[in-house]
Amino acid sequence: MNISAAARGSLRVVGLGPGDDALMTDQVRASIAAATDAFGYFPYIERLQGLGHLQLHASDNREELDRARAALDLAARGRQVLMLSSGDPGVFAMASAVFEVLEAATPEQQQRWAAVDVEVQPGITAMLAAAARLGAPLGHDFCCINLSDNLKPAAVIELRIRLAAQADFAMAFYNPCSKSRPEGFARALQALKDECEPERLICFARNVSRPDETLNVVTLAAATPEMADMRTVVIVGNSLTRQVGRHVYTPRSYGLPAHG
Ligand code: SAH
Repeated sequence: MNISAAARGSLRVVGLGPGDDALMTDQVRASIAAATDAFGYFPYIERLQGLGHLQLHASDNREELDRARAALDLAARGRQVLMLSSGDPGVFAMASAVFEVLEAATPEQQQRWAAVDVEVQPGITAMLAAAARLGAPLGHDFCCINLSDNLKPAAVIELRIRLAAQADFAMAFYNPCSKSRPEGFARALQALKDECEPERLICFARNVSRPDETLNVVTLAAATPEMADMRTVVIVGNSLTRQVGRHVYTPRSYGLPAHG
C-alpha cells in the first residue's frame, strides 16, 4: 500500500504531567490540539473531556498492550492519535508498552504499522513534581523503584530497595500499594527499617499538584504502611537528607555532617 505524506498517521505518546495543567509542556498541548483521537486509562482521558475535536478511547488500566495495538491500528489508517500517560510516558507508563507491541508485531502488523510516525513526548514525572514541592530531596544521587509486583517478582523489588539503601541512594517509590497488594508497601518499609537508621527522612507526597495535594514528612521510625496509597509517591532521603525550615533537601556533597 502506498500512503501519501498527507495521509500519514501518527502516534504521539505523551505525558500529561502530574495533574496541574500548568505543569503540562507546550509541546504536549500542541499535540493535543493537533490530534484526532486519544487513547488512555479512564482518569487520563477524563482530563481531556470537553475537547470536542477529539475522539476519546478510554480503557482499563490493565489493558496496556491491547490499547497500544488499537492506537497503532487507528494511526495506520491516517489518524493523528495520542496515547496518554500521567507524568512522563517513559516512567512506568505507556511508552514501553507501545515499543513492546511494535517489537512483537506479526509480519502483517509490521507492514500495517510501518507508515505510522511514532514519537514520545516527555512530561513532568510525579517524583520530580513531588521533590520540587518538598524542596530538593533528590538533590544528590537517587534511584526510582516501581513497587508494583504485577510485572516483576516481589523478591527483585526487595533486593533493589536493600541494595539502594546500602549504596546510600535517595529513592522514589511509585505504585507503593494498591487494593490488590496491601502488603507490598509494608514489606518495602520493613526492608528500609532493616537497612537504614531510624532518623532517616521519608516523605509521602499524595496527589501532587492537584487540589487535594498532601505532603507528609516523617522519620523512618514513625512511618507506617497506611501512610501511602496508590495516589502517593514516596521519597526516601539518603543518610544526609535533612530539613531546613519547612523544606527537605539532600546536600550535593558528603562534606556535610549527617543529620547536622
Ligand atoms: N507515568 C507516571 C507514573 C505512573 S505509575 C509519572 O511519570 O508520574 C502511577 C504512580 O505514579 C502512582 O501510584 C503514584 O505513585 C505516582 N503518581 C502519579 N501521579 C501522582 C501525583 N500527582 N502525586 C503523587 N503520586 C503520583
